[in-house]
Amino acid sequence: MFDVAGKSVIVTGGASGIGRGYAEVLAEHGARVCILDVDSAGIDRTVKEIGGQTWGQVADVTDRPGLAAAFDTVMERHGAIDVVFANAGIDAGPGFLDPEGHRNPDGQIENFGDDRWDRVVEVNLTGVYNTLKLAAIHMKAAQGGRIVVTSSVASQINEAIVGVPYMAAKAGVDHFVRNMAMELGAFGILVNCINPGPFMTNIAGGRLNNPEDRAAFEAQSLIGRIGTLEDIKGLALYLASPCSSYVTGAQINIDGGSRLR
Ligand code: NAD
Repeated sequence: MFDVAGKSVIVTGGASGIGRGYAEVLAEHGARVCILDVDSAGIDRTVKEIGGQTWGQVADVTDRPGLAAAFDTVMERHGAIDVVFANAGIDAGPGFLDPEGHRNPDGQIENFGDDRWDRVVEVNLTGVYNTLKLAAIHMKAAQGGRIVVTSSVASQINEAIVGVPYMAAKAGVDHFVRNMAMELGAFGILVNCINPGPFMTNIAGGRLNNPEDRAAFEAQSLIGRIGTLEDIKGLALYLASPCSSYVTGAQINIDGGSRLR
């Protein structure tokens, strides 16, 4: 039921963090994984460490021609695109959080950096649109496929704990996933969303390296800790495999139950 052996898998933002977790577990189960990321050195390191049939290409999810060319290269090498993880993302950055990751008192709308707003929405929302569009084109031709999008529990929280543009983009992602599940179901394409709580990655590092903030996040979790990459692998494998054959349009929180508090 968890059989993904030989499947052709793309992971955007797979050179580090959560995307790396997806790439690792799919590769461990025999999938042919292609990582697409802007971090060339990170791709090389991750591909070497994961080994097996994993490989990577430099591609920016906001560069439509470049991303399309990267998908074409995967088609040339694998002959199919069975599973796409639309995972690449960036944080809200300066202007929304201070250097230690606390909410910046200057983070009022009149002080927002327009460039940062544009880039966060461009990567975290439009980048998902670009990725899903290509995935849908390839998967419709094959009459089937799996799309898994990394959103965030931040999409459901009203207080601006991780920066307003990030949260607005992730809320948009949740809605877009539901729209795409409705549109693509008839073609045998399942579209689901993973909504992580705090995981120790580059994005969350600033916040979680701060002992006070880390303790607050740990206390928020019903099981008293933040997430590790091992925690996310089972869900990624489930959504990519025949086990989840009747699941689409789902938004699955993986946050130690913190949304229940
Ligand atoms: P990360 O920084 O470790 O990984 C993000 C990866 O995306 C990096 O390898 C980066 O180079 C790549 N990337 C950035 N911009 C890109 C672009 N334009 N095109 C292609 N690749 C790009 O952080 P992460 O936490 O692993 O983030 C992965 C996803 O998880 C993001 O969508 C993030 O919003 C989401 N998320 C993370 C957490 C958390 O606590 N870490 C919580 C909820 C959601």
